[in-house]
Amino acid sequence: MGEKITMGTNGILSVPNQPIIPFIIGDGIGSDIWNASVRVFDAAVQKAYGGKRSITWKEVLAGEKAFNETGNWLPNETLDTFKEYLIGIKGPLTTPIGGGIRSLNVALRKELNLYVCLRPTKWYEGVPSPIKRPEDVDMVIFRENTEDIYAGIEFSADSEDSKKLQKYLLEELGVDYSFNQNSGIGIKIVSEEGSKRLVRSAIEYAIEHKKSSVTIVHKGNIMKYTEGAFKQWGFEVAEKEFGQFTYTWGQWERTKEEKGQDTANAEQKAAEASGKIVIKDIIADNFLQQILLAPKDYSVVATLNLNGDYISDALAAMVGGIGIAPGANINYKTGHAIFEATHGTAPRFANTDTMNPSSVILSGVMMLEYMGWNEAADSIVNALSQAIKDKTVTVDFYNLMEGAILLRTSEFADKIIEKI
Ligand code: NAD
Repeated sequence: MGEKITMGTNGILSVPNQPIIPFIIGDGIGSDIWNASVRVFDAAVQKAYGGKRSITWKEVLAGEKAFNETGNWLPNETLDTFKEYLIGIKGPLTTPIGGGIRSLNVALRKELNLYVCLRPTKWYEGVPSPIKRPEDVDMVIFRENTEDIYAGIEFSADSEDSKKLQKYLLEELGVDYSFNQNSGIGIKIVSEEGSKRLVRSAIEYAIEHKKSSVTIVHKGNIMKYTEGAFKQWGFEVAEKEFGQFTYTWGQWERTKEEKGQDTANAEQKAAEASGKIVIKDIIADNFLQQILLAPKDYSVVATLNLNGDYISDALAAMVGGIGIAPGANINYKTGHAIFEATHGTAPRFANTDTMNPSSVILSGVMMLEYMGWNEAADSIVNALSQAIKDKTVTVDFYNLMEGAILLRTSEFADKIIEKI
């Protein structure tokens, strides 16, 4: 039953009416939140398409379940299935301690070359938030997913390799730095190709979704040839490939140099008035300040791997925390995508039927949108918003809301299905 989703030669996904979609249940709270979420997906698809469309779910193993059944944390079969079927969804996975795998999630991203980590952050009415105006937060983070200091190229302080590298840096490259006796070393990699494909995806998204700006977040003031280059390459992509749609702060700087600030300001104003997307940049520490002070100024955000990690958690906290934060790892060229909750396995709460399934449900919404099944996606968002507005919520929100009704994970899914 069911057919494969494929990528057409035109770069457009071809989604059959009965696609096969592989899923990983996940460890810890994974089974509670997955079982709740899949019922919501099926109900929404049934309601939206009256049986004309349906998803054939195909379970694949990873994490503890895989280890217990096969002795392998991430069986090759799982990777092959994701490769073959293009689109998949997963619950959280335990990070194995010891052994050859640093993180199952990182391994999946690496194997499938999922270079964009996409994390939309918006507030749903009624969700408890620590900030005064959470409705001002509506950002979509494009986090580079394969490079940076995050690539895991590291040498421990007591290793011979670290000593060799220090010697090489001092003697061959003439680096002016006095290493302490024991220094761990990590390598930060930022490539032109990796930076450009990330920023390109962010700009394409902004064009498609009619967003007013893309902000490149970096620490290029200090790390000039990595984070600074990321910004320059980002501006370059915008100007060379999307000139008719964008106006960059790189252009503004050049005009200011040549013709003065007033002319540069007028140029930007005219570009904005004509509907162009402004490609701006900001230093990462200032950005973390500005998202609290002026969140309305930011829409699509393009950033490097480590910055993106910090930024997405900070933003998630502003709109209700990780129980409601969805995510996706995508390769827009091949079409491969894995949608996932951004939180972990919360092992203390495993099999308690208490945790919030919204993160997986909203990851599924992203997946349906990616497939072009927007009617089903919209109906889930509306039903979930309504359930929260009615204050019928799981314990994480219940604890922070006045007069709420406490629901189990499974009951929260029932409530959403009722409203679909
Ligand atoms: P965690 O995200 O699992 O949990 C931290 C806390 O967040 C929990 O104690 C709980 O209070 C809250 N929380 C998490 N999910 C929630 C939900 N759906 N609803 C309500 N509250 C929720 O972080 P951790 O305890 O640091 O990590 C546990 C394990 O998960 C580790 O093995 C870690 O490596 C792994 N992990 C996996 C992923 C992933 O699979 N994408 C991501 C992060 C961590």
